[in-house]
Amino acid sequence: MFVAVALKGQDVKQQGQETLRYKCQYCDKRERTPALVRRHERVHTGERPFKCHLCSKTFTQRGNLNAHQITHVKMPPILPSTSKD
Ligand SMILES: [Zn+2]
Ligand SMILES: [Zn+2]
Repeated sequence: MFVAVALKGQDVKQQGQETLRYKCQYCDKRERTPALVRRHERVHTGERPFKCHLCSKTFTQRGNLNAHQITHVKMPPILPSTSKD
């Protein structure tokens, strides 16, 4: 049976709040590192440092940009036609 493996994950959960010592200056959200807080604070400041080089869309987080760029792989951006007859 695999019951023992499932129970093992329980004490990992206990670490919680104590490690989240850096607080957002705009809301009550907490993170483990100053870098993570700054990244979160962009949702308040509207800063969008991550830019798609394919269509110039901008994003607050790298993960969002990566997720967006996957759509280009499936469906390339429509470029103006440059036929040279
Ligand atoms: Zn916040
Ligand atoms: Zn794009």
